[in-house]
Amino acid sequence: MSPSQMPAQESYTLADLKYGKIRDLEPPAKLAVFGDPVAHSLSPQLHNPALSAAGIDAQYIRLHISEAEFSEALRTIRELGFFGANCTIPHKFNAIEAMDEVDELASKLGAVNTVVFEGEKMVGFNSDGPGFVRAVREEFGVDLHDLRVLILGAGGGAGRAVATQCAVEGCERLVLVNRTPEKAEALKEELLPYFADERLQGAHDRLDAIPWEEGAIASQIGDIDLIVNASSRGMKRSDAPLLPAHFLAPHHLVFDMIYSPPRTRLLADAAAAGGRIANGLSMLLHQGAISFECWFNREAPLEAMRAGLRSAL
Ligand code: NAP
Repeated sequence: MSPSQMPAQESYTLADLKYGKIRDLEPPAKLAVFGDPVAHSLSPQLHNPALSAAGIDAQYIRLHISEAEFSEALRTIRELGFFGANCTIPHKFNAIEAMDEVDELASKLGAVNTVVFEGEKMVGFNSDGPGFVRAVREEFGVDLHDLRVLILGAGGGAGRAVATQCAVEGCERLVLVNRTPEKAEALKEELLPYFADERLQGAHDRLDAIPWEEGAIASQIGDIDLIVNASSRGMKRSDAPLLPAHFLAPHHLVFDMIYSPPRTRLLADAAAAGGRIANGLSMLLHQGAISFECWFNREAPLEAMRAGLRSAL
């Protein structure tokens, strides 16, 4: 059975890494996602078809690794000759400390989700923001540079990554919204230097942090092109709506980073209002493609990855 056909629910532990179980796999395990929890990760379904399509004799596995085990697990996969790894919750922030080198964007974000073993060095990258850029381009045919963007959940890991990417891309305007407003305020302070040019009136016009309150959002929403949900609210049916449905209009592009369920209430409300919508699947896909490019320095077989994800879901 090829790895792309294998049921991918299994995850391994540090003990499996150290004492043999993983060493016997065929094709050999050479890539992994570290997480806690990790069983839900779709990364094997994304990467194993890509490895097969690219003719690389390797497979991608899930590793259930606690924070205390992280450094040892990283050392062990390096000794086993892995190409690298992905890091998900809760490791993205620890990972940066363990790297010998960190690419500029990952350094700005303070988080690494892609580790590459380059000779003696461990190099860290972050594909969250670049994956979002590619996803927005694919879904809506536009560049962030040209958009006025409002991010709900800007204070979380994904929200920070997307907000920083919007700032790096020089988006027209950026409005940060978070349930805990202090996090959005702090992020605004960090991002101010990106908005100090003269395209509009001044830094504060192009960058704002507002409370997650109807009145505050109502005064902004008409002048926004792209609404992003980077919060985890919307994953459960019982979740309260993110925005009142009447806030959504035909000119809005609405990107929900959630991909399960594929159509959240926010997306359903936006589509009913005549807006264009996209869920987080394309971001997941493009993040994976960027990791693949980091490991193998070649273009990722995107259609194999897309097909893998579709069949997994
Ligand atoms: P995280 O770091 O734990 O952040 C969670 C964010 O959601 C915070 O901003 C938090 O606000 C907010 N939040 C949680 N519950 C909320 C509620 N009931 N009302 C309002 N805000 C709420 O998580 P993350 O890694 O950033 O992930 C966030 C979401 O993005 C998840 O749904 C995840 O699946 C998705 N995601 C998708 C992709 C993709 O490729 N499509 C990639 C990464 C993440 P506070 O700051 O106030 O706690």
